Amino acid sequence: MKSCNRPVKGRNAGISRMALIMVILVIVMAVVIAVPKIRAFNAGGEEVACAVGLDSARRRLAEDVIVNQGKEDARQAQEVVTVAMNGWDDLCPGGGKVYLVRTQDRNLPYDLVCGKHDSDTKRRTRLNAGYVLTQIDDKLAMRRLVEDEFPQTLTFNLNGEEWEAVLTDEPVTFKRGTATTKGYEKKKNVAYYGIMGHSEFGSDTGAEEGELCYFVFADPEHYAEWDPDEGWTGDCYG
Ligand SMILES: [Zn+2]
Repeated sequence: MKSCNRPVKGRNAGISRMALIMVILVIVMAVVIAVPKIRAFNAGGEEVACAVGLDSARRRLAEDVIVNQGKEDARQAQEVVTVAMNGWDDLCPGGGKVYLVRTQDRNLPYDLVCGKHDSDTKRRTRLNAGYVLTQIDDKLAMRRLVEDEFPQTLTFNLNGEEWEAVLTDEPVTFKRGTATTKGYEKKKNVAYYGIMGHSEFGSDTGAEEGELCYFVFADPEHYAEWDPDEGWTGDCYG
């Protein structure tokens, strides 16, 4: 009798194993479909939360402008926001670097721009590039002091992420005046373009002798074209 029961038991076990596999498959599929949607939702929520936070900081700035009759400088404006919002570094919930920029508006002489969420890609890129340049210049000065040589790569932070910059001291890889990601496709790489004041590019732009100030961001998020008609601001373009 016992031996007669065995095949039945085995079939049951086979069916339940199949059912278990099916359930696992369904769960895996649900996760695969849901995760990108949840991520997109979170990213959208992050952007909204960032905009709401910056708006309330702007209101505090506007109040301060009325109280001080618009006499505050950038340092004071930054202090007003820092005190009102309990710090500066966490202004963007997504880790975006927030910049204080001067405006032409008398009622709000300073504005806040998030390096991760601002809708003006070009402005965002320019501010981020300037921020990256400051970090790289500082690190470069340190490395040269310690090692007395030009390093090939340096790391820096941008919008809560660590990046690697590939340093070039001559514009060999890039077409003059054109941003290109050629050769720098590896994710999280930034090319650091050297502009020599005596070169053709230098005389076009008025860059100082040996000035290093051109970036190519391989990440499309930070990519922007440089337009020679814009003129040279002495700042950086991504
Ligand atoms: Zn933000």
